[in-house]
Amino acid sequence: MKTEILGTDGASLDRAAELLTRGAVVAVPTETVYGLAANAFDEKAVRRIFEAKGRPADNPLIVHIADISYLEKLSPCVPELAYKCAEAFWAGPLTMILPKKDIIPSVTSGGLDTVGIRMPVDKTARAIIKRCGFALAAPSANVSGSPSPTTFRHVYEDMNGRISAIVDGGDCSVGVESTVISFDDNKIRVLRPGFISPEELSEIADTVIDKGVLEQLGADAVVRSPGMKYKHYAPKADVTIIDSDRDSFKHYVRKNSDDATMLMVFSEADCEGLDIEFIEYGETAEEQAKRLFTSLRTLDELGAEKVYARCPKKSGVGLAVYNRLLRAAGFKVVRL
Ligand code: AMP
Ligand code: MG
Repeated sequence: MKTEILGTDGASLDRAAELLTRGAVVAVPTETVYGLAANAFDEKAVRRIFEAKGRPADNPLIVHIADISYLEKLSPCVPELAYKCAEAFWAGPLTMILPKKDIIPSVTSGGLDTVGIRMPVDKTARAIIKRCGFALAAPSANVSGSPSPTTFRHVYEDMNGRISAIVDGGDCSVGVESTVISFDDNKIRVLRPGFISPEELSEIADTVIDKGVLEQLGADAVVRSPGMKYKHYAPKADVTIIDSDRDSFKHYVRKNSDDATMLMVFSEADCEGLDIEFIEYGETAEEQAKRLFTSLRTLDELGAEKVYARCPKKSGVGLAVYNRLLRAAGFKVVRL
């Protein structure tokens, strides 16, 4: 398949909408990561997303809308708390899990009777959804299992030849996928951390963090967010997180490194005096979120075999960075 490369001018957005209306799959930029979009109501179109990604059929897709009035078209009962969250955080990187109406085919929701709904703030994503006039199902635009794409180049590498078009909207501003929440009674449950932090959510209502966020769930555990059970975000290298201060990190690395080792650090100061190749992924949690997936892809490009990564903080946006890095490391953490 020839993949068209589109820009963000009006004619390009018209073309993207035209392709989507015909049931094609188009990669679209959003503020979180690039999405692999298709008409959420069109079963055949949605199947094409799963094929292009090689995504397991039980891993549900998030449905993207551009107008809050759409919530009621997609869900038969929207709790008051969902409206409060929408008011506080939409348009933005927050996905809410709600009961689904039959208008959403079961293939879109991975066979579940609920649906994840998000209203992105990204101008290009919104313009495309508005032009389409229907909601877009869109998982991250990477091949299943590899790090989510946050730049046009990432999408091109994974999807060229597999989908109808890619809209080049430059680099994503947030860099990690949306926060996914569900509602239990009057509580918010964080199923996947993202840019909207548990601290911010707790200003709206009592907020609990699901067990699956920080722990590897056993085979028979109830998985509330199916995406979290898959090996994900993983580079080819064997990654270990070193949860320690800078000095202990350096000491551990000095003792345990060989020729095949690379480091993933906040800044150069973390490896001063160590003669080991490194990449920096930023000093603040926001920067780390933005650079995490690019850094994981860079490790592959450099042929890294063994990687020691400095551990992000586990609060605010840092929790989202830690959650993704944990999966990239297959939950291997050395605590010093
Ligand atoms: P992606 O768009 O690739 O980031 O993946 C979307 C993720 O959102 C899935 O892997 C799930 O973890 C979560 N998700 C989407 N829909 C639902 C749902 N109905 N119930 C629970 N989690 C969901
Ligand atoms: Mg994904």
